[in-house]
Amino acid sequence: MAEHNELKQKMYEWTEKYANRAGYRLNPDKEALDYVLDGLVVKLEKFGRRYCPCRIVTGIEEEDKKIVCPCIYHKEEVERDGNCHCELFFKSN
Ligand code: SF4
Repeated sequence: MAEHNELKQKMYEWTEKYANRAGYRLNPDKEALDYVLDGLVVKLEKFGRRYCPCRIVTGIEEEDKKIVCPCIYHKEEVERDGNCHCELFFKSN
């Protein structure tokens, strides 16, 4: 569990850095954010890569690399819906 929490802290730092760089903000709802970060860490622990917590890993490398966070879909989703599918990254305005 200690390791899980350490990974979660690192995941949080990474998502924050990425959000700043990309001009997004993280989900302002702390509980929801915590839930997504947990999901990302669980995927990392299980598969060794930061797969999207709300999409299914197929086992097909070509397909799965599209859903390594930040997935290939997130920019369009943020633009269109105001947030990515997992509600991790939000439009900053
Ligand atoms: S939907 Fe969001 S959390 Fe999921 S992989 Fe894409 S950017 Fe990451």
